[in-house]
Parts: sequence; C-alpha cells; structure tokens
Amino acid sequence: MPNESKAAATGAALGNVDAVIVGAGLAGLYMLHRLRGLGFSARVFEAGADVGGTWYWNRYPGARCDVESMEYSYSFSESLQQEWHWNERYAGQPEILRYVRHVADRFDLRRDIQFETRVTTATFDEGTSRWAIETDRGELVSAQFCIMATGCLSSTQEPQFEGLETFTGDWYHTGRWPHEGVDFTGLRVGVVGTGSSAIQSIPIIAQQAEHLFVFQRTPNYSVPARNAPMDPEYEQRIKAEYDDLRQRERESRAGVVLMGVPEQPALDVTAEERERAYEARWSRGGLGITRAFTDLVINREANDTAAEFVRAKIRATVHDPAVAETLSPHDYPIGTKRLCADTDYYETFNRDNVTLVDVRKAPITRITAGGLCTADAEYALDAIVFAIGFDAMTGALLGVDIRGREGSALREQWTAGPRSYLGLSITGFPNLFTITGPGSPSVLSNMMVSIEQHVDWIADCLAHLRARDLDTIEATVAAQEAWVEHVNDVARATLYPQANSWYMGANIPGKPRVFMPYIGGVGAYREKCDDVAAKGYEGFTLSAQRSALRDQVAR
Ligand code: FAD
Ligand code: NAP
Repeated sequence: MPNESKAAATGAALGNVDAVIVGAGLAGLYMLHRLRGLGFSARVFEAGADVGGTWYWNRYPGARCDVESMEYSYSFSESLQQEWHWNERYAGQPEILRYVRHVADRFDLRRDIQFETRVTTATFDEGTSRWAIETDRGELVSAQFCIMATGCLSSTQEPQFEGLETFTGDWYHTGRWPHEGVDFTGLRVGVVGTGSSAIQSIPIIAQQAEHLFVFQRTPNYSVPARNAPMDPEYEQRIKAEYDDLRQRERESRAGVVLMGVPEQPALDVTAEERERAYEARWSRGGLGITRAFTDLVINREANDTAAEFVRAKIRATVHDPAVAETLSPHDYPIGTKRLCADTDYYETFNRDNVTLVDVRKAPITRITAGGLCTADAEYALDAIVFAIGFDAMTGALLGVDIRGREGSALREQWTAGPRSYLGLSITGFPNLFTITGPGSPSVLSNMMVSIEQHVDWIADCLAHLRARDLDTIEATVAAQEAWVEHVNDVARATLYPQANSWYMGANIPGKPRVFMPYIGGVGAYREKCDDVAAKGYEGFTLSAQRSALRDQVAR
C-alpha cells in the first residue's frame, strides 16, 4: 500500500518535518535541542512512556552508572552543569532519570516528543529524497532526515528457555524492570547471568531473598565502585575546572579523565610497581584498573598481570576456595568484556543464603512450573531475574525495517554484520544517521562524550547542507569499505576479539561475530570526523537533486 493510502486507512495525518529522531534517551534529547536551536523542525518518537532511555527502562535494584556523575552528564550547557548537583560519586538510576527529566523540562523538549510510540519502518523515497517514517500507532511522517537515537543497549535479549511459559512464579528482565519495584523478601530467587546488571543487583537481592541462586555461565572481572556521597569540595573543584575537564575528555581515549590516564606499559615497570598501581586503583574504586598501563588491552602478558591481581582479590574475599575459583575468570583477558563495578559483589558469596551455580559445567536445560533445571539438578524458585543483556548495537536499529535506495533493507545489508561510514552513516541510506552507531567508539567510551560529539557533528552537517541548498548526503561505497576495514584492523591489533563478548555479537545465538565498536579512541575519532567535515564531507556524496529540480521548474 502506498504511504499516503496507509495513512488514510488509519486516519492519521501525514506530518512533514525536517527531521524525525527515533528515541528520547540522552542522544535523542540533545539532538532535538540542537536541531531546534538551528531552526529545524523535528519530531521525536519514543517507545517508552517518558524520556530517559536506558535510565527509564533499567530500574533493577542497584542500577547505577560506573562513570563518575561529574563526567556522566551533558557538557553542552554551562549553566546546567554548574547548577545540577549530583548526590553521589556514581549516580543511581533514579537520580540519573531525575536529571534527564530535568533536562527535558529545562529545555522545553517534551512538546516535540511523542511517547509510547514505536517507529516500525523508515523508507527512503528516491523521488522526493525524503524518508517516510511509520509508527506502531499507524502514523506516517515525512522527513528529510531520519536520525536513529535508538541506543546501543536498548533492545533486550529475551529469555528463550524451554518451559518458561509454565513457570508459576514471576520472572523479570533487568532491562525492563517494573516501575513499582519488586520485593523479594522471603522468596527463593534465581538470577541468570553475571554481567554488569547482575553484578549490581545480586548484592541487593541477596539481602531480601530467603535464598538466592546465581546461575553463572561466564565469570566476569569486577572491581569495587566505592560509591560514596558526593564530596562538596570535590564537586566544587570539578565545577571550577569543567571547561578544561570536558576538553580533556573529548581528546582522551575513552571520554573519561577522572579515573586516570595511562602513561607507561605494564611490562616496563617492576612487579612491585605494578602491584602498587593496581592496589591504588582498587582502593580508589571504579574502572581505573584497566587504565593503569598503556598496554593492558594489546599485550596478553601485560593483561595477565591485571587479571591475576583481580583473581587474587577474589580469592582473598570469598571464603570458600571452590566458590572463589568458580567466580574467577581465566579464559579471556580482563577488559575485553565490559569490566564491571560493584558494591560487595564478591562478599555476597560469603552469605549463607547465596549459592553460586556453574551453568557452564551443567547448562540450564529448562524452566519448570516450580523452578529451573540444569543438566544435573533442579532448583525450586519463586522468582527468576534474567540479567541476560541486550542485542547490543544493532538490535534496536534492525528493530526498525529500514529501507534505503531501491527498497534495499538494512536487515539484509547487515546480515554478515554492521557496515557503516564512521558509525554515523550507511551507503545506500541517504540522510539517515546513527548516533553512536556500530563503527564508532560509543560503548567503549563515556557515552555522554560520544553522544554529544555525534549530535554536534550531525547538527553541523544538516546546517551545512541547508546553507548550500543541498538535499542529500550519502556515504560513498569506497569510504565505507575503507572505514570498516580500518575498524577491523584496529580491533585485530588488540585483545578484544579474544573474548566472547556482546561487543562481538557473541551473546546472541546466530548473530554474526564482528567487533562492532571502534577502538581507536574518542579523541582520534573526533579528529577524523572533524577532518571529514572540514574537507567538505570527504567520503560522502552531497547532492542538490531536488533543489536543481526546483530551479528548473521556476525557469
Ligand atoms: P538509550 O538510552 O538506550 O535510548 C534509546 C531510546 O530509544 C530508548 O528509550 C528506546 O525505548 C528508544 N527506541 C529504540 N527503538 C525505538 C523505536 N523503534 N521506536 C521508538 N523508540 C525507540 N554508559 C556509560 O557511558 N556509562 C555508564 O555507566 C553506563 N551505564 C549503563 C548501565 C546500564 C544498565 C545500561 C543498560 C547501559 C549503560 N550505559 C552506560 C550505556 C547507556 O546506554 C548510555 O550511556 C546512554 O544512556 C545511551 O543513551 P541513548 O540515548 O543513546 O540510548
Ligand atoms: P551482559 O553483560 O551481556 O551479561 C549477560 C549475562 O547473562 C552474562 O553473564 C551471560 O553469560 C549471561 N547469559 C546470557 N544468556 C544466557 C543463557 N542463555 N544462559 C546463561 N547465562 C546467560 O548484560 P548486562 O549485564 O545487562 O550488561 C550489558 C551492558 O550494559 C554492560 O556490559 C554495560 O555496558 C552496560 N551496563 C552498565 C552498568 C554499569 O555498571 N554502569 C550496569 C549494567 C549494564 P555469558 O557471558 O556466558 O554470555
């Protein structure tokens, strides 16, 4: 059915805007703010009932960021960053959500956001050079630009366990937690997974549950967060230095500077010096340990020194040596799966009401009415928490049926893994942008820094096109292929591909194994993007098709 008749069939009006933005998380909100500032009309569609994205959906007990609050915040507004007060060193989900809501209100963003509306298709019309965007409410909007702010970690991996539908207790996914919260008091609870979400929630669930069973397939490296109330002097000092700090973040490797920047290789110093460096970071708390030395993600021997330091901490913390050993990762380098930051995670396994179950040895076979079966035992459970993660980086993008030139489907183009130019743009899909898309530093960085960089680049690009009366921008095949090759080359030079991580798509059965984010560092990446823009959008074709047509008609 042609687009117009579809809209007529549902009775919906066909709106016309300069840009449709999909998603009202941190990326979508800032994109809207920037486009408004430039005088573009924009409409945001958000599947959730409010702003916040990650911080709207992930309300599991203990959900918290592991980049310091002073850095995990927008830098685009000096008054916002000066006036906002963070209560804790690492903000918890409720505080971050309050912050995002505050931003939405402060900049009057809500009037252009339509909530509880999922974008289902986006189709490029080569005749008009516009995108037709359709929602699950039957609306159809025409936009010159389609900007995907759909999030890298917003599409949950659904549990596929046989028999789940027969379970008579309640089950939850950490990424879709009930807004009213869950009280596990007196219940026998199972947590499946030991990634960041599980590691944050397990210590809290253990305090409530009668008994907690943790079903672990792969142990993770975790370091203490050492969260604490915000020190007012520290806050003042950072606020006084914000200009400089933000600039250093933008030029840095991972968009963070407060946890320290590595200066020398681990193997250049003595074992005692290494131990002191790791110990200092362990005591300070946070993810700094893998940033102690420059060679930890490129040299296995160097990496082993940090990995062994954490394993020794696990052995020193967990009383039962067999449990400590099961909790200790051996088969992948530290940092090549997302490092976790916790509060009392390993200590929790000293509690009498907590049992670690190794489902690598005896896999989960099915869920029954009364619990969960592994290959060698049955566990009676009242509730199950699936902390099994996300279809990361591509899941939300491919959740929309995106059709580019000649009706070509993104889902088909990416069957062997995502391919893009700079993680921002895809050949064959003119005027479509992906904020923190695969092929950009995104999840390997403080996402705030990467989001702001992408949004600013896209906003500048749209202003450039408008100023020159250009209609479309599209990545060339050659530029995209060269970028994909570069992203792969850089990844291959590191230890990252040695882990079965979600960075590699390894957590989703059948997903192609491709290292998706760009490891080159946010500073170097920003330089590349700025250079591309400065050279008149090198690697892109800019066209004035419609404008030329308008001129012809006028003549
Ligand atoms: P999101 O916040 O994911 O927002 C995307 C939005 O798009 C969602 O609200 C979704 O509902 C909506 N959407 C998707 N598809 C559609 C569609 N088809 N139609 C309509 N709406 C759609 N990063 C860090 O840098 N530091 C951290 O400490 C950190 N902690 C994290 C903790 C958790 C539990 C998780 C899951 C992620 C964490 N991240 C962290 C990553 C986090 O996702 C980013 O920091 C950031 O919040 C992403 O913002 P976003 O706007 O790009 O995406
Ligand atoms: P995750 O890191 O992908 O962890 C999922 C866990 O579930 C893994 O332990 C995985 O085991 C396990 N699992 C998946 N399928 C399973 C199955 N069929 N049977 C048994 N176990 C299974 O997901 P996440 O914990 O939600 O975290 C995702 C990302 O979100 C993080 O890496 C991080 O970037 C972000 N996050 C950050 C924070 C923070 O502290 N700021 C908190 C939460 C999330 P395998 O490893 O064997 O696959």
